[in-house]
Amino acid sequence: MAFVKEELDELRTKCTSEIENSELITCHQASVRVKISKTKFKTLVVCLQFGDDYPKSPVIIELKSKTISEKLLAGICNIADAEAKKYLGKKQVLPVLVFIRQFLEDNAFVVCSDELSFIKKELITSEDELKVKQKSGILIANVFEKNYFMKLKFTIPNTYPEEQVSIEQKETNFPDLFEKMCVARATELARQCVTPPLKKRPKDPPFEVKPSLKLCAELLIRGCIKRYPTEKCAVCKEYVFPTDPTHVVNDPHHGRHVEWVYCGHLFHNGCISEYMKTPPFTGGKKCPACGKRIYHDKWKITPKTAEERWAHEQARQRELEEVVDFLG
Ligand SMILES: [Zn+2]
Ligand SMILES: [Zn+2]
Repeated sequence: MAFVKEELDELRTKCTSEIENSELITCHQASVRVKISKTKFKTLVVCLQFGDDYPKSPVIIELKSKTISEKLLAGICNIADAEAKKYLGKKQVLPVLVFIRQFLEDNAFVVCSDELSFIKKELITSEDELKVKQKSGILIANVFEKNYFMKLKFTIPNTYPEEQVSIEQKETNFPDLFEKMCVARATELARQCVTPPLKKRPKDPPFEVKPSLKLCAELLIRGCIKRYPTEKCAVCKEYVFPTDPTHVVNDPHHGRHVEWVYCGHLFHNGCISEYMKTPPFTGGKKCPACGKRIYHDKWKITPKTAEERWAHEQARQRELEEVVDFLG
């Protein structure tokens, strides 16, 4: 055990200087415990024990953390075991600690490994592309649906999840309005994950920061990119987006421009304009798909005005028919 004693003496003098942001909690022959932090959320405790034939056998490693998932801890433990085995017959404690500290440094997704595997398993299909840049904390997802695609860049900040994931759209053939709306909605959702609401209701539980990556990716991939190209106009029941993305309409006055209303259903501009001008108007026009009242900046008229306009339009139509009759 003289070997272990000497190694522990060295650890006491070198631990904090060689391993950035570390704290030696216990340092006995029975066990060694060291806390290693990169950030508040990238923090773990390494527990080491020496077998009878140490250093001929690898040091026994156990990892604990309040913020890193059990599954990932088991994975880190495995590769740290392999690292220890490289030093059989030699001092293993410092090399193992250095290795674990470096792992935290090199893997920005340590704090969201569960979220990342959800995205891989549940959101991304075989036709999509996903690139994970572990060190810089960047996730590039190129997501396809029918002939449409959107390439998104998610960046995990160093202080994640206390700071929200940032989202950027890199390339797409979606209509302008949709591309902007999707990213804006996701960015707002991310903001709500880390910012307490302005108006707090008395019964609300105390605000807690929520991880934002999974929620935003789910909204963008499942709720937007995979959804809109398969969505049909609530009036004419045809696909809202043209089959050929080169025919996408970005002119808001064009009849095939796609409109998104408050309930989330989609319409062609021409279809909803016609629908909004047609009775019944009582209680406001309702979405034909879900029955909710239609709210949209373009059609902000009261049922009464709509009724009057309709009557006026009908009268004009009758006059026109009379003229046609007369001429015919
Ligand atoms: Zn339509
Ligand atoms: Zn609706």
